[in-house]
Parts: sequence; structure tokens; C-alpha cells
Amino acid sequence: MAGQWVAVPGYSEHQLGIAVDINGATYDLYFWLQENSYKYGFIFRYPAGKTEITGTAEEVWHYRCVGKEAAKEIHDQGLPLLA
Ligand SMILES: [Zn+2]
Repeated sequence: MAGQWVAVPGYSEHQLGIAVDINGATYDLYFWLQENSYKYGFIFRYPAGKTEITGTAEEVWHYRCVGKEAAKEIHDQGLPLLA
């Protein structure tokens, strides 16, 4: 259970330098990010309802850079990345 909330040392996407956490004062930011981040090459990495696939509980603040082409395809198809 703890593994869904805390990355094992050495396995965080942050340590690879390919992910960022973006936090705002209100939830409006997270809604905007979910609709627009793909335009800049980032994907909503750990959406709700995909924990069995990603291995991580929802993190509305965590975005991973995959490049604009892949981000658009992932966003348009509603696909999560595998863990
Ligand atoms: Zn993060």
C-alpha cells in the first residue's frame, strides 16, 4: 500500500529529471493542466482509476515530459503509462 504513495528510493521519475510537480492555490490549476499539458509535451502521469496500471495512487500535481507527439497521443486516447 505504501508503494502507491511513496516512490522507492532510486525509482522516482523526479530522480530521472523527467517529471515535475506543479502545485496551485486552487484545483482550477489541475483541471487546466489535465486539459492542456499535452500541448507542451507533458502528461498527467498518475490519474485516478489507473492505479492498477501505473502502480501509483492519483497525483494531480505530477506531470511527466514525454514530448509533444507522444503526449498528444496519450491524452487523446486517455492512456496511462505503465509503471
Ligand atoms: Zn511528483
